[in-house]
Amino acid sequence: MKILVINCGSSSIKADVREHATGAFVARMDIERIGQPNATLRFDGEDSTTDLGQVDHEQALKKTIDLLLKRLDDPGAIAGVGHRVVHGGARFTHPVRITSEVEEAIDELASLAPLHNPANLAGIRAARKLLPDVDHVAVFDTAFHATLPRRARTYALPYEMANDPGLRRFGFHGISHAYVAQRAAEFLDADVRDLRLITCHLGNGASLCAVEFGRSIETSMGLTPLEGLVMGTRTGDIDPGLLIHLMREHGYTADKLDELLNRESGLAGLSGVGNDLRDIEARAADGDDHCRLAIQVFAHRVRKYIGAYAAIMGGVDAIVFAGGIGENSALMRHRIAQRLDFLGARLDEDRNRELQLASLQPVQMFSTPHSRTRLLVARTDESRAIAEAVSKLILKSDELTLDQRPIPVAVSARHIHLTQEAVETLFGPGYQLTPRNDLSQPGQFAAEETVKVVGPKNEFPAVRILGPTRSLNQLEISRTDEFTLGIDAPVRASGDVANSPGILLVGPAGQLKLEQGVICAWRHIHMTPDDAEHFGVKDRDVVEVAVASGDRDLVFGDVLVRVSEKYRLEMHIDTDEGNAANLGRGATGTLISTEGRAQLRRRNTRYDAVNPAAE
Ligand code: AMP
Repeated sequence: MKILVINCGSSSIKADVREHATGAFVARMDIERIGQPNATLRFDGEDSTTDLGQVDHEQALKKTIDLLLKRLDDPGAIAGVGHRVVHGGARFTHPVRITSEVEEAIDELASLAPLHNPANLAGIRAARKLLPDVDHVAVFDTAFHATLPRRARTYALPYEMANDPGLRRFGFHGISHAYVAQRAAEFLDADVRDLRLITCHLGNGASLCAVEFGRSIETSMGLTPLEGLVMGTRTGDIDPGLLIHLMREHGYTADKLDELLNRESGLAGLSGVGNDLRDIEARAADGDDHCRLAIQVFAHRVRKYIGAYAAIMGGVDAIVFAGGIGENSALMRHRIAQRLDFLGARLDEDRNRELQLASLQPVQMFSTPHSRTRLLVARTDESRAIAEAVSKLILKSDELTLDQRPIPVAVSARHIHLTQEAVETLFGPGYQLTPRNDLSQPGQFAAEETVKVVGPKNEFPAVRILGPTRSLNQLEISRTDEFTLGIDAPVRASGDVANSPGILLVGPAGQLKLEQGVICAWRHIHMTPDDAEHFGVKDRDVVEVAVASGDRDLVFGDVLVRVSEKYRLEMHIDTDEGNAANLGRGATGTLISTEGRAQLRRRNTRYDAVNPAAE
């Protein structure tokens, strides 16, 4: 299967055709100076270029795609197109198949990435016109960082601003960080979900990422790619007070600050000789003090972040260098990785100096054999990562239509489980629940009886009791119900009611003030061990389930798997979730992935630790 990968920048386009199984290049093309009078096109890294004159993105892409297709033996072999999109905002946390709605959403995100998203979108629109019959998939640079915890993604602004979804840390280079983390884990013969890694993407743009058990939990770029490390022409971190000072005392406008911080600073600004580290290193060796300073400030900043990320993760198994500088500059690696013995990372000077990445050895180690923390160099390959994401999505949808057992989806309205003691308090001594109708899970029933639930703001006069009685009282409501009642209940698995809010229940024979027990049920699938084997999952795995309702198809993430001989295959969601997907009776879903394993494992640990006997 051949995948076309398009990286459409503001003035350049890179287009690669990759073989999905091997990652091999089938063809590649670069176009530069789009929008200028003298755009050029270069094939497969050849020296000669073809002049295109003045072209816009659409014209440039048309030329690129026409020429690429001519070079392929079988032009129909392109199975999908992957588009790199810089900003996916809070919405896009995975690669998505592009529809006009996705295009609109990328357009709306342009204000967050004015240099990048419009160009990315121009490429998408042109390519979809030119190749209308294949899947187009957007792969986002921000997506890998969707797992940043709130404390890491929040700027300490006034609360309302800090919670503005457009004013937070997003992080970038996610495609590269995820890719090198995965490659490093393979090199170490370990599962990325068992490792704490610091990935250093050091190129013209540069960022660090703390990859804890497969998930990004901290990264150095923020709302924009300006935060963090020193870069080719960007300052990285700077005291925001300096900006105020420049505005007040030196008359800087927003545009002038933008120019200063994004294009006139960093290695180029400090060194005065441009942003190419090779030149800077050569001049530093000849005694140029500006260039020496540029190297020192760059390395110092990276070291500072490495220390911080090791502290955040409570240790680190490997530090991985990638990007033009990380992969090629032994000097910069040396300056960054020396004297990290306190972290357990011992640099092997000879290996570092002699190291040369090759296509057969795209990951290499430059720490000493006994170094507890490994120092690695990994060749990043964003276009391959994009091709892999596209083929995975295409194969996954093929799988979906082929051999998956459909999962019946049931929408649970608000309901309550009670102890026998609670039943007697509410309905009188010795009272027994009366079964009204059987539920799908064997032995479970909806009772004739209902109970009044009284919240601080409103009440529900008749909430159905489900039987038989249990060892814990538990009211399961939707988020909308929470707002109506005026309480804030956590999303929990059934039986896990510790530290949940309480509520007042009123029955015909008495009242009962629950101290705890109100939860918003964690969406889950009940299944038998046979089902679990069929789907390749285990009890307490967290999976994704796609539901197709025609006009509101939805993929539910964070679905908890519960396996028992006593269960029957069924997914349970609440009314809010059912409405979101427009689900009616007889709806089914398809299990599509278990990608969130690292998340799941950590969750499980917490979940089991909190409540070992949870039902
Ligand atoms: P990237 O943006 O990943 O292509 O990285 C570009 C940066 O890598 C530029 O600063 C280059 O100077 C730097 N770079 C590439 N090769 C070398 C090398 N052999 N030694 C030092 N820096 C290099």
